[in-house]
Amino acid sequence: MRTIAILGATGSIGTQALDIVRRHPDKFRASCLTAHSASDKLFELVRQFRPDVAALVNEPEAIPEDVRFCQWVFGPDSTVEALKASRAQDALCAIVGIAGLDAVWTALDVCERVLLANKEALVTGGDLVMAKAAEKNIPMLPVDSEHSAIFQCLQARQGNPVKRLLLTCSGGALRNWKKEDIYNATVKDVLAHPTWNMGGKITVDCASMVNKGLEVIEAHHLFGMPAEKIDVVVHPQSIVHSMVEFGDGAVLAQLGNPDMRGPIGYAMGYPERIPYDAKPLDFAALGHLDFAAPDTDRFPALPMAIEALKAGGSAPVVLNGANEAAVGAFLKGQIPFGRIPEIILAALDAIPVTPIMCIADVYEADGKARAYAKERIKI
Ligand code: NAD
Ligand code: MG
Repeated sequence: MRTIAILGATGSIGTQALDIVRRHPDKFRASCLTAHSASDKLFELVRQFRPDVAALVNEPEAIPEDVRFCQWVFGPDSTVEALKASRAQDALCAIVGIAGLDAVWTALDVCERVLLANKEALVTGGDLVMAKAAEKNIPMLPVDSEHSAIFQCLQARQGNPVKRLLLTCSGGALRNWKKEDIYNATVKDVLAHPTWNMGGKITVDCASMVNKGLEVIEAHHLFGMPAEKIDVVVHPQSIVHSMVEFGDGAVLAQLGNPDMRGPIGYAMGYPERIPYDAKPLDFAALGHLDFAAPDTDRFPALPMAIEALKAGGSAPVVLNGANEAAVGAFLKGQIPFGRIPEIILAALDAIPVTPIMCIADVYEADGKARAYAKERIKI
């Protein structure tokens, strides 16, 4: 039996993790549940899972009588306070954006293992987070499906060097769109992801291919691979979740129907595989699996992210901060979709690369990127 803190419990990843907890009460107990502002949803989860501690960033007007049995924490630091108070063995970091970085940092101080969905924490604080994890000997178990696939393939490594990581990519909702149509894609178009059902921000990132760029950076940090040894291949069916190529040319892949409970459950149960009623793969029904090179002309954000990784220092933080600001503005109808990569590129060009020596440096670069993007959004 392991205790687990689900940070971002009301979200897409958080609720699917709780489905695994529900199916395996003998293996997991959710001792801490946190969310930003969806209080009714969190109250319901607290009723079902009976954690020791629960947290909301936005304090609700009232706490219902039947959920007062647990300790409640509110306010901007509520996630980290709740995590500390819960003394959970594992932390599932499933907050979206750089807003989750503090929680990952704290989890490395107070937990035995970090289960990482929050890719933006690595994109922004990757060098610092991975150094702290190594120093404290805390496993960072990937939850992102591509990284989980690579991690699973690496179980067969037996000390052999890896030649290349191959990240697969569905291509997002606009995969087949013409360049001029992509520019003015609506929020509804962009949120219609063909294979995965996820939170709003990551679904927008998939359509712009920023998500794949963030994932290249995430893979660099998790697996210690340089940008040159991480390739992206478009695979519309999302059946091959990613691959690893070894020195002899052998490529190992991990396959499955697209269902995030697979990678979430793998991280939760690691090294044990936890069943979750996965739909079996029917290869005859699938018939074929397709692969293509990414189109960097229609989706320029992918090469921007790879360049930011190569530039190092604050560049990935600026990329991420400008993207978070631009995606927020797009979802509010303030800018057309095509301005997202334009704003990112402008921010990367305008803001000089500075070294990242501590977490305060991360927030400083993020603040500069957001301030710059905010000005561009007004134009
Ligand atoms: P989501 O929007 O569905 O859920 C986000 C959760 O975080 C919610 O519980 C919300 O209340 C909480 N939250 C948001 N902002 C917060 C803040 N400032 N402080 C505290 N809590 C906050 O997002 P999601 O799709 O579940 O994604 C979560 C993370 O996992 C993201 O980093 C995403 O890139 C990554 N991820 C998601 C998927 C997926 O299938 N959804 C797949 C791979 C990786
Ligand atoms: Mg992914």
